[in-house]
Amino acid sequence: PLAIWWIRRDLRLSDNPALATALREGYAPLPLFILDPRLLRNRFTAPMRLGFLMAGLRALEADLRARGAYLLVRRGDPGEVLHQVLAESGAERIFAEEDYTPYARERDARVARALPLQCVLGLTVHHPSNVIKAEGEPYTVFTPFSKAWKALPLPRPLGEVPARWPTLPRLPGESLPVLPPPALFPAGEAEARRRWRAFLEDSICDYARARNRLDLEGTSRLSPYLRFGMLSVRQVVHEALEWALEHPTARHGVEAFVNEIIWREFYQAILYHFPHVTREAFRPQFRHLPWREAPEDLGAWQAGRTGYPIVDACMRQLQATGWMHNRGRMIAASFLVKDLLINWQAGERWFMQHLVDGDVAANNGGWQWTAGVGTDAAPYFRIFNPVLQGRKFDPEGRFIRRWLPELARVPAAYVHAPWTMPPDLQARLGVQVGQDYPLPIVDHALARARALSVYRQG
Ligand code: FAD
Repeated sequence: PLAIWWIRRDLRLSDNPALATALREGYAPLPLFILDPRLLRNRFTAPMRLGFLMAGLRALEADLRARGAYLLVRRGDPGEVLHQVLAESGAERIFAEEDYTPYARERDARVARALPLQCVLGLTVHHPSNVIKAEGEPYTVFTPFSKAWKALPLPRPLGEVPARWPTLPRLPGESLPVLPPPALFPAGEAEARRRWRAFLEDSICDYARARNRLDLEGTSRLSPYLRFGMLSVRQVVHEALEWALEHPTARHGVEAFVNEIIWREFYQAILYHFPHVTREAFRPQFRHLPWREAPEDLGAWQAGRTGYPIVDACMRQLQATGWMHNRGRMIAASFLVKDLLINWQAGERWFMQHLVDGDVAANNGGWQWTAGVGTDAAPYFRIFNPVLQGRKFDPEGRFIRRWLPELARVPAAYVHAPWTMPPDLQARLGVQVGQDYPLPIVDHALARARALSVYRQG
């Protein structure tokens, strides 16, 4: 018998629960991807993320072809497409991986009412409804969530997929749109695995120490691959813990790394239990803060022209590569919300429109955390000082100089606050602050006081 393997954000063959369930139940899985117009074009669409998705589908198609199968691509409303493909192929069931965005849940519920759809766990290691308090309530604070998460038995990754695919009927499909993929992230399961193994072997030992430094490549940069399931998060956790057992010096790094994976699980769980966070602040008292309507300031932030080099370098890195370091995301987000007093939702949207790893749960969680309006929020009076953050996490200014060529010759002592450079030094270096590079668009000390007063009245 035949079943549809409905691929959404699980672009891999190994440790793929939807695919494995179909095979285990004796079905020949027909791989189907649906070009859903609502996902291809909405307020969060990012051309680079779409390019990465298409390249990932192409890589998956090649992996399928090597096994004697193919990828069926259709365009349209998922319910209608599935209905048609079931009728054309004679498939009896549909298997897919669960997804927790409000759109995905509504879509899957609608499809499941009409068609034989079975969704299985795979986006996270543990299902959000399994990591709950004794009384059955969801956690809204990270630390107890992570304790409960760690106390659950770790599911084992599933075995390999067969080298030869069962025979499939040949159905007519569309070809995948051709979009430029991001240069920094070649797509596909093989590339994801290669990067993951290299990170384990070369970098995880140092992860706890280096992960906050903007000038080092101390993090895994696996987020786009995890976002689209080119890598199984369960496999990653499993292999990381095994690595720590075999390499005691890596234990600390592995612990710190798994902790970040748990943040990912935490925000998926928050979105699952509190879907309203996609529309408003988690905390009611912060839903009506008097945000500034300041399109020019928003534009300067987006373009990386605020006059604060660490913020600008991060924002230009985002535009150029589709990725930003976690520390950079916190600094840039804090600047928009606290220094410019612009609604965090404008920043949430801009990030989604540019991040290759853009994920509704993680991005929303990160923004609400930084804005101090979310579940496990940083207290609102903790306001990042962009100059001090820069000095601490990019001590020599190497990261800044990489992204702001106009400051390439500015010495470390001034690179985080170029407006403090004496005029004769500016003349000697040939950089005039206010002309070659902007003066700060706000005074941080004043902006900080303004934010505190607004939030206090919140
Ligand atoms: P590593 O440090 O190597 O971490 C390993 C993995 O853990 C990451 O790939 C990611 O899947 C997960 N992870 C790490 N930190 C977090 C975190 N704080 N929250 C959730 N998951 C985490 N991450 C996204 O995947 N998509 C987003 O759209 C996104 N938006 C963010 C917006 C803001 C304002 C902030 C502050 C953070 C955001 N993050 C987002 C979280 C984090 O910045 C990225 O996951 C991380 O920078 C990716 O780089 P990496 O793979 O090298 O991370």
